[in-house]
Amino acid sequence: METRHVGKREDTSTTRASKKSLMLVSRNQWGAVMPLRKESLQDCAELAVIHHTALWSCCGPQDHLIQLRHIQKLHMQDRGFDDIGYNFLIGHDGTVYEGRGWGVIGAHAKGHNHNSVGIAFMGNFNDEAPSSAALSSIQQLLQCGVVLGHVHPTYTLLGHRDLGDTECPGHLLYKQLQHLSHS
Ligand SMILES: [Zn+2]
Repeated sequence: METRHVGKREDTSTTRASKKSLMLVSRNQWGAVMPLRKESLQDCAELAVIHHTALWSCCGPQDHLIQLRHIQKLHMQDRGFDDIGYNFLIGHDGTVYEGRGWGVIGAHAKGHNHNSVGIAFMGNFNDEAPSSAALSSIQQLLQCGVVLGHVHPTYTLLGHRDLGDTECPGHLLYKQLQHLSHS
């Protein structure tokens, strides 16, 4: 299934986010440990790669923090990454959590980390559908990325499975990616 979409050039509607402002939780706020190393993207991200964490579905902010710390530990200790692999993560309630953040090379899609931003929905989307709050947040987040110059205005949105042999981001989330507009 094709889920490629091309972003529109930024226009004056960038204040649209004020409709419902994006809830962003910084690394400090969720208790991230320091990255071992941090490498900057050479240019703005051409790809937005969508993942799921394939872990439990969280019921509330406290549970999100537990899952975030769990993932960071898993990525750094078990997989030997420098930090949590994703640039951002999104909870069921639409809260966005800073992972590596903007402009930093992630560890989420082998062979494609140097020109992409990796965003993970928290939960397992083989079993559950993404919430409309989370879907709305990802659009706002990417729009912010374009405005800030970290994401290319004509970025391509992909599911992890488009780039590798994986079920990620789960078929119920993957199905929704084609409905994400860039306006
Ligand atoms: Zn993935």
